[in-house]
Amino acid sequence: MKAAVMRAPKAPLSIEDVTISKPGPREVLVRLKAIGVCHSDVHFWDGAFPAELPVILGHESAGVVEQVGSMVSAVKPGDHVISILSPFCGTCEYCLTGHMSVCHTVNRELFQRDLTEAPRLSIGKEKVGQFLNLSSFAEQILVHENALCVVDKDMPMDRACLIGCGVITGVGSVFHSAQVEPGSTVAVLGCGGVGLAAINGAAIAGASRVIAVDLSDEKLQLAKRFGATDLVNPGKVNAIEAVKELTKGGVHYSFECVGLKQTAEQAYHMLRPRGVATIIGMIPPGVNIEIPGIELLVTEKRLQGAVMGSNRFRVDFPRLVELYKQGRLHLDDLISDRIGLDGITAAMQNLKDNKGTVARQVVVLD
Ligand SMILES: [Zn+2]
Ligand SMILES: [Zn+2]
Repeated sequence: MKAAVMRAPKAPLSIEDVTISKPGPREVLVRLKAIGVCHSDVHFWDGAFPAELPVILGHESAGVVEQVGSMVSAVKPGDHVISILSPFCGTCEYCLTGHMSVCHTVNRELFQRDLTEAPRLSIGKEKVGQFLNLSSFAEQILVHENALCVVDKDMPMDRACLIGCGVITGVGSVFHSAQVEPGSTVAVLGCGGVGLAAINGAAIAGASRVIAVDLSDEKLQLAKRFGATDLVNPGKVNAIEAVKELTKGGVHYSFECVGLKQTAEQAYHMLRPRGVATIIGMIPPGVNIEIPGIELLVTEKRLQGAVMGSNRFRVDFPRLVELYKQGRLHLDDLISDRIGLDGITAAMQNLKDNKGTVARQVVVLD
């Protein structure tokens, strides 16, 4: 099968013939139809986060099940599926207490092959790294069955794939991590794919004010379509002061979707007492966030992280598909461009350059 292979940081991905193994007992082979290009791919491509080379990046995908292993029960050939980078085991403490999105961070090896087994991906004798258990910039993926969720066949693939990372991360953080309640006020820092999904989630949850914060006026205008009620450009005004003024003292919930120390601290400082700041952005290793310790005590403000929207994806994905069909989850507006596998390098460069309206560029395969 063809895949876009990364051989060095920042170098153009090369389209190469890659050998993909046959499904083991709990593995599933999926023919991909659509793949979103996510900012997290860029973080590994540009070297901010380490990757085992060569590697196939990509982790936001949807496709059709082709072949299943002997013990697979969750999916069958012909099923339409969305993949996720946070598979679950179903038996650990986190899974059994309803926090299955954390499972993959402690049980990583359960979802990969042993070193003694043939690799899932290879070129000749060379092993190719599988990125986040998926490696979706490819025509096919071979994954653990618990990294997949079946969805309705009438759900368009190019929109379905977005649910698998950006959308569940944004919407899930609102619904599950922060549990935004109707009438409360929300600020979202960063209006890329994840930020727009968080804004959309806050609107669905019934927030009375949804304040979009971004340096790009174009992205702020786009945020309105997802339910933003107020727009703040920190390049023009002090974001913390502006949000406090709009909400008479600060928001109940803030979401940091950029991955910077500065925006994480802003997310905390724009809260009202008892408010909750949720960090969704990928803050690079070695970067610390500083907040005044005494405020935690005096104001009862809270700072928390959320991985993959604290999802329970087998429950969440079909619900999000339904919200899309009802016109409440605006996946159509999230797509800024449709490209081929050979367009991924340029798409990642666009994200890195932070070009105005680039929300999600989606690879579409026949
Ligand atoms: Zn992603
Ligand atoms: Zn588990």
